[in-house]
Amino acid sequence: QPVLAVVGRPNVGKSTLVNRILGRREAVVQDVPGVTRDRVAYDALWNGRRFTVVDTGGWEPGASGMQGAIAAQAEMAMATADAVLLVVDASVGATTTDEAVAKVLRRSKRPVLLAANKVDDNRLMPDVASLWSLGLGEPMPVSALHGRSSGDLLDAIVKALPEAPRDGERTAGPRRVALVGKPNVGKSSLLNKLTGEERSVVDSVAGTTVDPVDSLVELDGQTWRFVDTAGLRKRVHTASGTEYYASLRTKAAIDAAEVVIVLLDASEPLSEQDLRVLTMVVEAGRACVLAFNKWDLVDEDRRHQLEKELDRGLVRVPWAQRVNISALTGRSVRKLAPALRTALESWDRRVSTGQLNSWLSELIAATPPPVRGGKQPKVLFATQAGIRPPTLVLFTTGFLEASYRRFIERKFRERFGFEGSPVRINVRVRE
Ligand code: GDP
Repeated sequence: QPVLAVVGRPNVGKSTLVNRILGRREAVVQDVPGVTRDRVAYDALWNGRRFTVVDTGGWEPGASGMQGAIAAQAEMAMATADAVLLVVDASVGATTTDEAVAKVLRRSKRPVLLAANKVDDNRLMPDVASLWSLGLGEPMPVSALHGRSSGDLLDAIVKALPEAPRDGERTAGPRRVALVGKPNVGKSSLLNKLTGEERSVVDSVAGTTVDPVDSLVELDGQTWRFVDTAGLRKRVHTASGTEYYASLRTKAAIDAAEVVIVLLDASEPLSEQDLRVLTMVVEAGRACVLAFNKWDLVDEDRRHQLEKELDRGLVRVPWAQRVNISALTGRSVRKLAPALRTALESWDRRVSTGQLNSWLSELIAATPPPVRGGKQPKVLFATQAGIRPPTLVLFTTGFLEASYRRFIERKFRERFGFEGSPVRINVRVRE
């Protein structure tokens, strides 16, 4: 999701204009000079285009006076945003502070828009024209208070912003599931159980064109597309299948799926091969359910043993839901569908920028990032840039240790959940 930073002196009407841009869907607190606001970033939507609006007034001004503080804001805006909107007060005209900021912004490689605010009537138009002197192109007259020309401004904003990268593909039709696991873990037994006991849609829907390597399976009143199951369905355990080939096949199935059932053998210790499959799922960014198969073979002793193994083995996917099943007896097989649904809901989910930042600013105030090279990195704001998988971008003034990123992820999950889905955290450090 592209980012627009709004820069300007206090009292030019930045916050009111931000409110306009947001269509007042999220509350923005008063523009109080010198006061650090706890929420600075919000989601905006115009003509079907989503973007994040950052009100840089929420950034702590430095000690270097008003002019220096605003110039520092502009620097940060240029480093973090895809486009910058400078707001000036047309009824006052360009002040020396405005000129200093404009000078900083003229160096920007990113598009800069100039809004001349408080143009409540046409008598101010000559004053608007005089703002050409800032060297930022055509000043756009707006009245944040009365909403004048805010549509034109929004058109110009979305034109200046890059297209949002498309979210992970969501084609119409049944959700795509991969069933993966090492040889003999019970994949074909489970698929047979699922298609055997439940109605197999493939046979009953006349004229359905199904990719022959996939199986449509009805579970819990919902149709699912199990991808790349040809080998499983026919129970062909090719002797020629080298481990390398099997792993390519697994990777292809994971890539083709939205959610993955990783089948693990509960009667045996977790193997390197199991962990490699889990790594593939995480790296592909797919939602995931862990199914511990052959539970009919698990006695009390084995269960305790398994718990200990899992504490160590599942560190990469502590967020995955676990279901204990038996493809042989059918035990708990029906719990798979709700687990798949939960995982996909998380995978598809978006937290609003406002919610994200009010949570994050509290977290960071309580536990700031560790000092590095004598400097305290500051987290300016965050936005959920994408879904499938959920991807957060943190905009910072310095590098964040991996341990601190993990801390943020853990706290994010405590607050927002996201069971069953990986969450990616990217950090964008301003140059
Ligand atoms: P695949 O290679 O992953 O497709 O595994 P298969 O489905 O061919 O199963 C391998 C072996 O494990 C077969 O002998 C199955 O009968 C057996 N098996 C599969 N699921 C279970 C289970 O839940 N319990 C027990 N006891 N055996 C199982």
